[in-house]
Amino acid sequence: SPVIVWFRHDFRLADNAALTAAVETGAPVLCIHILEGAADQVAARWWLGRALELFDAALRQRGGGLHVFDGPAMQVLPALVAATGARAVFWNRRYDPEGRETDTRLKALLKAGGTPVQSFSGALLHEPWTVRTRTGQPYHVFGAYWRAACQMGHERSPLPAPRTIAFAAPDPGCLPPMVDAGAIGREMRATGWTDGLEAAWRPDEESAQAALARFLDGPLEEYARDRDFPARPATSCLSPFLRWGHVTPAQIREAAVARPPSGGLAKFMAELGWREFAWSVLFTRPELASRNLRPEFDAMPWRRDRDGLQAWARGRTGYPLVDAGMRQLWRTGWMHNRVRMVAASFLVKHLLIDWREGERWFARTLVDYDPASNGMNWQWVAGTGVEAAPFFRMMNPLIQSRKFDPSGAYIRAWVPELAGLADGQIHTPWLAGGAAGYPAPIVGHEAARERALSAWRGLRGPV
Ligand code: FAD
Repeated sequence: SPVIVWFRHDFRLADNAALTAAVETGAPVLCIHILEGAADQVAARWWLGRALELFDAALRQRGGGLHVFDGPAMQVLPALVAATGARAVFWNRRYDPEGRETDTRLKALLKAGGTPVQSFSGALLHEPWTVRTRTGQPYHVFGAYWRAACQMGHERSPLPAPRTIAFAAPDPGCLPPMVDAGAIGREMRATGWTDGLEAAWRPDEESAQAALARFLDGPLEEYARDRDFPARPATSCLSPFLRWGHVTPAQIREAAVARPPSGGLAKFMAELGWREFAWSVLFTRPELASRNLRPEFDAMPWRRDRDGLQAWARGRTGYPLVDAGMRQLWRTGWMHNRVRMVAASFLVKHLLIDWREGERWFARTLVDYDPASNGMNWQWVAGTGVEAAPFFRMMNPLIQSRKFDPSGAYIRAWVPELAGLADGQIHTPWLAGGAAGYPAPIVGHEAARERALSAWRGLRGPV
């Protein structure tokens, strides 16, 4: 009888502890995926669809394939175990609240029926419950968290891909109904929206390794200096590959520290640390993506402004850097980190719209969307989170634009209406008489600033 490997956010052959352990049992391996995702995470769904196609192809090359089923997992997995007589189930852990709950229940259910489940780590350098203060409390501040995490060391070296895999070949007629691995890809292509995503990404293990090599061979050295400039190819663009587990942080770490030491390395590792921190915060605060971690913000008089929200989402605020970022997101499912901060701050402070509206839009449109990083970063920008920039510190989108995109190269790439403006004019097109087809600012900076600060002061009561 076979063993089952349930792939979730771990579409890779190398450094896949669940797969390796399953292969080591010597039993034939049945590779499965169960569709459970939220349909409104549209860009992530596109990524998943392509990842399933490409991973299936990679397994076929080795003589097997990926069996894809429609969820819910609570029904499909026990049915599959019964149908195949599987002797064990293997998976790599996930850490989102719903995923954890499903996994805990499934583990108990299968175990009660006599089928052991073995779960493994891989998505993080440190399991989210392991980095704790001396008194066993979670860290609330990144600096202290990351120092403690670094002191713990990294016990695990990445595993090689199994040399051979003996695949199980069950009679499809005996299995729960299957979905063609290409079905989601076709469904998403039919929307006509995915051309930009198709052009920007190839969601597989090979491309993750290529992106990693490109980054380590070039931009890493000057990462600390260049990472805030969105027109420079200075960051790794590994976030969706990490999210979907085409590469692991252990693989990245091992490859990075093998390079000659450079100033960029510590900074880059710390960014991976922010990702770890976000998952550890979500672990203790499952409401991270849905509730203010500082409850005093529950009384904030956020504005209901559908037009403003729409203008922001579609990159038509009249602020060139914000619009360039939002259009990059819409077209490619990814946005540069500096611009994410500026765009998020604009929504929350200049438009005074609840950060959760922005969190939802990002969840819809990011290929690297995850509830930990997205929730933590939105709460950071909004000033509502654990370690957050204070609300009154407002980013000025014009200063940010001049400082981080001085020649306007990033703006020109994404806002073609402004491409003809001179470098000095591109950040403030309204001062140059505007540009055909490009909107005037939907809100003035000073007025918006006053409005936001007065709302915030109201929260604190008269001083
Ligand atoms: P690099 O600069 O090459 O960094 C390497 C890796 O470190 C990234 O791939 C990512 O895994 C991690 N990382 C870097 N910065 C952060 C950060 N601030 N927080 C957490 N991890 C980080 N990142 C996501 O992966 N998913 C999200 O849903 C997400 N939502 C965000 C929402 C907002 C409002 C903001 C301001 C940031 C968000 N980020 C999110 C963090 C960050 O913008 C992206 O991880 C980064 O831009 C990815 O590009 P990169 O891979 O080139 O990063």
